[in-house]
Amino acid sequence: MADKFDVIVIGAGPGGYVAAIRAAQLGLKTACVEKWVNKEGKTVHGGTCLNVGCIPSKALLETSHKFVEARDHYNEIGIEVGEPTPNVAKMHEFKEQVIAKNVGGISALFKANGVTALEGSGKVLSSKQVEVTGHDGEKATYEADNIVIASGSVPVEIPPTPLTEGLIVNSTGALEFEEVPKRLGVIGAGVIGLELGSVWNRLGSEVTMLEAMDTFLPMVDKDIAKETQKLLKKQGLDIRLGTRVTGSEIKDNEVVVKYADAEGEKEITFDKLIVCVGRRPYTEALLGEDAGVNLDERGFIFVDDQCRTSVPGVYAIGDCVRGQMLAHKASEEGMMVADIIAGHKAEMNYDAIPCVIYTSPEVAWVGMTEQDAKAAGIEVKTGSFPFSANGRALANNAAEGSAKVIADAETDRILGMHIVSQHAGELIAQGVIAMEFGSSAEDIALTCYAHPSTSEAIHEAALAVDGHAIHMA
Ligand code: FAD
Repeated sequence: MADKFDVIVIGAGPGGYVAAIRAAQLGLKTACVEKWVNKEGKTVHGGTCLNVGCIPSKALLETSHKFVEARDHYNEIGIEVGEPTPNVAKMHEFKEQVIAKNVGGISALFKANGVTALEGSGKVLSSKQVEVTGHDGEKATYEADNIVIASGSVPVEIPPTPLTEGLIVNSTGALEFEEVPKRLGVIGAGVIGLELGSVWNRLGSEVTMLEAMDTFLPMVDKDIAKETQKLLKKQGLDIRLGTRVTGSEIKDNEVVVKYADAEGEKEITFDKLIVCVGRRPYTEALLGEDAGVNLDERGFIFVDDQCRTSVPGVYAIGDCVRGQMLAHKASEEGMMVADIIAGHKAEMNYDAIPCVIYTSPEVAWVGMTEQDAKAAGIEVKTGSFPFSANGRALANNAAEGSAKVIADAETDRILGMHIVSQHAGELIAQGVIAMEFGSSAEDIALTCYAHPSTSEAIHEAALAVDGHAIHMA
């Protein structure tokens, strides 16, 4: 038997690495097992988020956005530039540097906080033992008073479009195209599909998005979703709703996709196809036969509100458990679990988790939509404000979009905030803090905001809840 730890965390994504660092900060002897190896065969921390998710996608979204700014908007604001050309290889180089800095940062934090980094694949055995199989196949068994499972998720594949090297790819493949595909298909117009479709659309691809649902972004307030759809359409994203993909074929290095919509059976040909239909929990080779950790009917590790599994002292967090598949949700659960293990009181407010789509403009929301609230029988009042009436947004040459505040009609308590705008992903923190503190719309309305700032649109939307926005007739 190798070392004994107070806590062993399996998986070093944003759930696992945060749990490990927090546990070590709280004085617990902590190890974190990670099996991810990069192209050079080196173990890397950061999981999906840092290696093939949040961070690389944002690097490409930013570079492609800057390209569009230079191509379409610099001249109109007085910066005279010639026709810019995207250098995809250089963009990937930048993306790789960003990944390396982030990943290296986690390893440094492990060292600084005294987290023991174990390399290899972790398996939960009975009696709170973890077997680690190193990359060389060597096995070692560790004991722990507590185990935190943070094994994450992987992309869902669908039978009509099996992944085909370089032609039909998942989100990871879509972050690595060496050239801009002329005709790009995306199955799924959800968060990841919209982001990846935007990257390549900005760089010149003709992008068609095939979405099975009839409603665009059903989790976003209807007004904001409608405005977003219009703005993305204007950018050239051809989003086809109510479209069910039934099959595909590779012909002459092209992908022919068969689908059905309200008009019947159709076919469309692409140079590349991205399958972005969601992610599923990753639990392969993770649980020994007598580990006793139960899964739910959808394959997620079954946990209670405080991430306790069916085995006392074994916790599970992040994408491998119920709830939104978001890096910050995983991290918050990691902090909560570390606090609980250290004997502190801790819980999460699952009603105040922000979501962001990093398109341009960004879409961000927290809490209920007006439609959710009404469906739940809550009487609401709402206030909206367009960024076209916000001085800073106009000066930024980015005045598209609007902000909407949804409040309880009786108590004025904020139930939700939904925004489509240039920096919506930053602005939404105001809604999250307001909801976390149980604020009313009036609390925001009575707050002094810096001028000129795009945040003033949130102030105005809150003022509009009672019908009194200043800069709107
Ligand atoms: P992961 O990040 O998946 O990490 C799990 C880790 O566990 C991995 O490193 C894996 O190798 C390791 N592991 C698994 N099994 C074992 C084992 N048996 N032994 C050892 N190690 C193991 N979320 C956001 O909040 N914002 C975004 O902008 C965003 N953008 C995204 C863009 C893309 C393209 C994708 C694919 C995802 C994006 N996400 C985003 C989602 C986000 O990446 C996930 O929600 C987040 O990474 C989940 O964290 P996690 O720690 O639960 O799992």
